[in-house]
Amino acid sequence: MATVGNVNWVKKAQEKVARLGGQTIRVGVTGLSGAGKTTFITSLINQLENHQRGLLARRPPFDRLVSVRWQREGVASPFPYLQALGALASNPAQWPSSTADLSRVVIDLQFRPEGLLKTLQGLRSVRVELLDYPGEWLLDLPLLGLSYGKWCEQMAALVDREPRRSLAGTLRDRLGNLDPAARCDPLELSQLTADWTSFMRSCRNEAGLARNQPGRFLLPGSGVAADMLLFVPLLGANRYSEGPPGSWWAQCEERFNYYRDFVVKGFYDEHFSQLDRQILLVDMLAPMEAGQAALQDLKLALEEVMGSFRYGRNSLLQRLFRPRITRMAICATKVDQVAPAQQRSLQQCLEDLVTDSLSEVRHGGVEVQGFPLAAIRAADQEGETMIGGLVGQTAFVRYQPVTVPAHLPLDLQFTGPKLLHLRPPSGLHRNEPFPHFRMDELAGWILEGRQP
Ligand code: GDP
Repeated sequence: MATVGNVNWVKKAQEKVARLGGQTIRVGVTGLSGAGKTTFITSLINQLENHQRGLLARRPPFDRLVSVRWQREGVASPFPYLQALGALASNPAQWPSSTADLSRVVIDLQFRPEGLLKTLQGLRSVRVELLDYPGEWLLDLPLLGLSYGKWCEQMAALVDREPRRSLAGTLRDRLGNLDPAARCDPLELSQLTADWTSFMRSCRNEAGLARNQPGRFLLPGSGVAADMLLFVPLLGANRYSEGPPGSWWAQCEERFNYYRDFVVKGFYDEHFSQLDRQILLVDMLAPMEAGQAALQDLKLALEEVMGSFRYGRNSLLQRLFRPRITRMAICATKVDQVAPAQQRSLQQCLEDLVTDSLSEVRHGGVEVQGFPLAAIRAADQEGETMIGGLVGQTAFVRYQPVTVPAHLPLDLQFTGPKLLHLRPPSGLHRNEPFPHFRMDELAGWILEGRQP
């Protein structure tokens, strides 16, 4: 017969079980264009779907994972998992198309409870919601604290410096010579907006620069009216400028304000502020190959992005939305391109680049951990050499692994690695776990503290 003490204990345990049941973990996945978001999410779903095989099978809590369901019904802007699998399974294998808009993945996991709870309850479920969004959108965050005039000043200072100055060409003078108070010519405004957008594209593609505002000009996403994305920084204007209705100033300021207050803030209100965990993916190797200016720009871009994850009392976000991210993973991606012994050095270089921002994020109460990742391992080490296939070809090449320094020099000046453009390995199938580095460690860390 149960004693009063026993009854209380059973009741308490049942309450605990009830609290743990039906949890949802919302995870943001971000990174600048080409960081590896699409490939990462594809691989993560694949690892979970194949949890009984591969590295996940041996890692708690996945050793208690009984079933995984990738939820497709009723998910707005679903992540194109099947398309991504199609590209990877083609011959020769191709990488999936990159993230250009926000997308979602909902995965329901059912675990066998452990220990004493086993006898009290059946399977426990956890829902993981992944939100994939372009990191470029986070670069717009500082706009929330800026007036149009201050933004013009900042853009003028940025375009003044090389390599942006040369890339801007005559656009710099055309924007600098416009009188803010003169009547705006709508055709010229569309032309200037198109030219500013191609200038941003050249900064990104030719010089590997990351800080390109407004981010939505490059990756508009859906749901933003195209005619509201028509404005440019007047490079001769400043915070004291003004202009009558219909002037260049009035037209550009009005759209800038709309962009800041509805597009940028709307994204934070609706999505960003709901996240529990954040994964920040960074391709370190391409900017290391491109050189000092690209690394410098990446550093500033990441500092801006991480400003969004910093919740110290005076942060803009703390005041605006009270975000609740408690853990952030910062990951150097595509580490299969270097020899396994060098993967931690690559992660170290990333952490060297953003040392101050990492301390700020930690200081704001967010737990941070680094993971050198390869979502899909495209190259293998064989003795002293690496072996992998190149994009668009079917043959394999054997090559000397690229080397990276143990630490980034403070001036960011060194001879960068020469990279090959590897294709995914052949024979990837949805029902086999893809080869990877540390996807299992990261998946475990995401669930830690929340698993049933
Ligand atoms: P996104 O723009 O952040 O969505 O980035 P993607 O996932 O589309 O990745 C951009 C490119 O990086 C891909 O087309 C591949 O060339 C490469 N890539 C991504 N993940 C990996 C990886 O795990 N290993 C290797 N070697 N290359 C990768």
